[in-house]
Amino acid sequence: HAKKGFGQNFLTDLNVLKNIVKAAAITKEDNVIEIGPGLGALTEQLAQAAGQVVALEIDTDLLPVLDEVLSPYDNVKVLNQDVLKADLPALIQEQFADPGRPIKVVANLPYYITSPILMGLLESPVAWSAICVMMQKEVAQRLTAQPGTKEYGSLTLAIEYRMQARIAFGVSRHAFVPAPNVDSAIVVLTPRTQPLAAKPYDEGKFFGFVKNCFAHRRKSLWNNLKPLAGKDADKQVVIQNVLAELSISPQLRPEKLTLEQFITLANQLHAQKLL
Ligand code: SAM
Repeated sequence: HAKKGFGQNFLTDLNVLKNIVKAAAITKEDNVIEIGPGLGALTEQLAQAAGQVVALEIDTDLLPVLDEVLSPYDNVKVLNQDVLKADLPALIQEQFADPGRPIKVVANLPYYITSPILMGLLESPVAWSAICVMMQKEVAQRLTAQPGTKEYGSLTLAIEYRMQARIAFGVSRHAFVPAPNVDSAIVVLTPRTQPLAAKPYDEGKFFGFVKNCFAHRRKSLWNNLKPLAGKDADKQVVIQNVLAELSISPQLRPEKLTLEQFITLANQLHAQKLL
C-alpha cells in the first residue's frame, strides 16, 4: 500500500513499538503528538500508554484504515495535516483536553523530512517534555555526535543548543514493511538539565555563523573565519587576537569546538564588529 513520496515504511515489530513507548517514558499524564501514524501500529501503543494522543497524517488514503484500527480508543484524534504546516502551539491548545499536561512528540518519522521536522519542533515555542523519534541511523549519529568526530556539525549544535540528545536503541531495516534501504535508530531528546553558560548575541545569526564555520570542514578554523575579514589585514589580526584570547588554536578544525566555544567566539567576533 505504501505510497511514493511520503516516506512510508510501516513498523511491524511489536517489540520495537513497545520499546519506543518505553523510551519516551509515556504515562497517562502525558499529551502525545504523533507525526505520521501510517497504519496506526504505533498510535495504538501510544493510546494505551498516554492520556491523550493527537496524530497528524498527511496521506488522506490512510484515514479510513486509521479510523478502523483506532476505533477502540477514545483518547486518540487523527488530523489530516502536514506537520510542516501545522501551528503546533495552537493545535495543542485546541486538541488536548488539558493542554497544560506534559507534551511529548513520538514518531517513526518520514525520513525525507527528518531535519525540517526536528528544526520545526525545536524552533517552536512549545516546551516539549520529550521528543522520541525514529530516524535514519546516520542522522541519529549526527544529532548525538561528540566534538572531534566527523558526524559532529551544525545539526548537532542546533539540537544541543535546545535539548539533550541520546540514542535509545538501533532498529534494523527488517522491522519495517517495506524495508527501507537504511538502518534506523530511536533518538530521545529531553530538556537540557544544564542551562548554557552564555547566550549567543543573536540566535539566527549565530547559527548562520556556525554553518559558515563548517562550510569547509576539513580546513582549519582560521581558513573558515578568514572571509569575515575580507582582504583587510587589520581585521585579520582582530580575528587572530579573538582566537588567542579564547585559547582556541586557529589551526583547529571547526569540529573540535564545543557549543559553548562557538557561542563565545561568535559573541567576541560580534563585539569586534566582525559579525
Ligand atoms: N507510524 C507508522 C509506523 O510506524 O508504522 C508510519 C511511519 S512512516 C515511516 C511515516 C508516516 O508519515 C507515513 O504514514 C506518511 O504518510 C506520514 N507523513 C509523511 N509526510 C508527512 C507530513 N508532512 N506530515 C504528516 N505526516 C506525514
